[in-house]
Amino acid sequence: MSKIPNPSQKNQTNTAIFERRESKVRSYARAMPRKFIKAQGVWMHDSNNGHYLDFLAGCASLNYGHNHPVMKQALLDYIEKDGIAQGLDLYTEAKADFLNAFESIILKPRNLDYRVMFTGPTGTNAVEAAIKLARKVTKRELIVSFTNGYHGMTLGALACTGNATKRNGAGVPLNNVVHEPFDGYFGADVDTADMLEQRLSDHSSGLDKPAAILLETVQGEGGLNAASTEWLRKIAETAKRHGALLIVDDIQAGCGRTNGFFSFEGMGFTPDIVTMSKSLSGMGLPFALTLFKPSLDIWSPGEHNGTFRGNNHAFVTATATLKHFWADDQFQTEVYKRGEYLSARLEKIADKYGFSTRGKGMMRGIDVGSGDIASEVTADAFDKGLIIETSGAFDEVIKVLAPLTITESEMAKGLDILEQCIRNICSEDVDAAA
Ligand SMILES: *Cc1c(COP(=O)(O)O)cnc(C)c1O
Repeated sequence: MSKIPNPSQKNQTNTAIFERRESKVRSYARAMPRKFIKAQGVWMHDSNNGHYLDFLAGCASLNYGHNHPVMKQALLDYIEKDGIAQGLDLYTEAKADFLNAFESIILKPRNLDYRVMFTGPTGTNAVEAAIKLARKVTKRELIVSFTNGYHGMTLGALACTGNATKRNGAGVPLNNVVHEPFDGYFGADVDTADMLEQRLSDHSSGLDKPAAILLETVQGEGGLNAASTEWLRKIAETAKRHGALLIVDDIQAGCGRTNGFFSFEGMGFTPDIVTMSKSLSGMGLPFALTLFKPSLDIWSPGEHNGTFRGNNHAFVTATATLKHFWADDQFQTEVYKRGEYLSARLEKIADKYGFSTRGKGMMRGIDVGSGDIASEVTADAFDKGLIIETSGAFDEVIKVLAPLTITESEMAKGLDILEQCIRNICSEDVDAAA
């Protein structure tokens, strides 16, 4: 497809109802003040005939693109036959189909044995369940999380999040979490996994034995810092040695974004607990899971409850996703290739302007050193028909989260726009410095 992006004019979009009635807490819409009406694949369309290439993909909740025909048809068929449409944790046919597919397509081939807990429907719900369970199992309070980690907005998950602006919104003390330095935090020469091990081994270090160590293998919101396999393995060993559970928050890096279905596949360790959400439903429907080793399943019935714990519509689309994309290696191989292309293109741009690249797989970006420059670039990109966002402590990383189903030519088109915007905004700086 070679549609020319034709973004509409800002002043033609009537956003009055949102400004008048919607809370000021709205955020993404501020950078993209258009009324979106439909979307297909990697394209979004607004009410003024503007077309946008989507390099945000619902913040990695649309890894398979917008309205994928296979998921869409599965959902239409399900609704047509009056399939169950509520979220209490009843036994339903849609849930059985999902669990069977998850077991046979995802868990068994990877030699993983996890119980599946249906939590409330957003990522932060899965994280809350994970840390609650870790505390219950170990009878310890402390959670070790990491600098620049992002785990959600409800109090428990928020306490584990690094960003102070986000944490300060809590209005109450956020206790029982320590933020240890992530891989590379002090530069390449300091091994922060060794530091954590040393502190936990020293009973005078002041660091108590934690219930869990919680991490993202690639930090989505915190600047696309990718932990090395070696670092992750050491952390897994440290967790085991000190009786703590290892929780991998795979909400953004999972579902094929960085590696296999899980971001930690083939790395030589198995997390005790895994959280998933974002692209799990495959169609943007709210759906989250907490997975854990069967021995940890000490919940009593209803101890962690909720009305929407198992979105049946999401079961239907998630099952379709698993069968369509994950039944063999083909999709994963293609995604890997696309990630390599993305990496090469970003490296080239970064080299030219003295920037550096971040991330892994199809979760990569360019650190342009300043949030102001990054937001100028993303605003210019939006004007040219490319939806792209930033990440990092200062929003200094321009982050490509294109659907994994994107074709190479669509990707090239988006990266051409990005390159042009960076040239427009950064050439002056380079010229001035020369
Ligand atoms: C988005 C995200 C969350 C929170 O998910 P919500 O659905 O926004 O609550 C938690 N952890 C990670 C790694 C995320 O990227």
